[in-house]
Amino acid sequence: MLYKNLEGNKKRKMKIICIGRNYEDHAKEMGNVTPKHPIFFLKPDSALLPKRNPFFLPNFSEEIHYEVELVFKIIKVGKAIESQYANKYYKQVGLGIDFTARDLQKKCKEKGHPWEIAKAFDQSAVVGEKFLNVENIQNINFSLQKNGEMVQKSNSKNMLFNIDEIISYVSKFMTLKIGDLIFTGTPAGVGAVNIGDELTGFIEDQKMFNIKIK
Ligand code: ZN
Repeated sequence: MLYKNLEGNKKRKMKIICIGRNYEDHAKEMGNVTPKHPIFFLKPDSALLPKRNPFFLPNFSEEIHYEVELVFKIIKVGKAIESQYANKYYKQVGLGIDFTARDLQKKCKEKGHPWEIAKAFDQSAVVGEKFLNVENIQNINFSLQKNGEMVQKSNSKNMLFNIDEIISYVSKFMTLKIGDLIFTGTPAGVGAVNIGDELTGFIEDQKMFNIKIK
């Protein structure tokens, strides 16, 4: 019975896969070495910030950082996908923010604990509503403005592991399902947000999201 109740929710379950240290400039600013394979962690579906909602600073952290990231949506179920076929599993690219409780993450790292309290909390995953078709997935300019000032800017060609390599690596360990999202890591320039701030993300010249911090 309990099982039936749990499964009764018709909304499709999805997971959010996030890649860490995927841009050399960001790995350096955090004092991390660049990895030899993709590093990933998960956010649950409850981490998604509902559309058009502001982001409310949680009371358990004194240091919430923005991380702007290109986001890919999985369109086909797959497991153990070879990177040469990975492009069949996504079609479009979007933009999001991987909100991070940096103070909690530092403590977790020091102790060698998992990162969930710093990364998987409610509203920590912002995904713009629009997803775009792009000609060349290896050459996408994206940026983030805080209060109208550019704070992060990069291009998908700067990823240490491209989306096809990420899909191949992650799908060795877990099945990718339709609707899953992959956050592909953030470039340098991460920083704290405060009440009243406004974050606006762009792919090329297209505005992808606008979030108010409350
Ligand atoms: Zn991130």
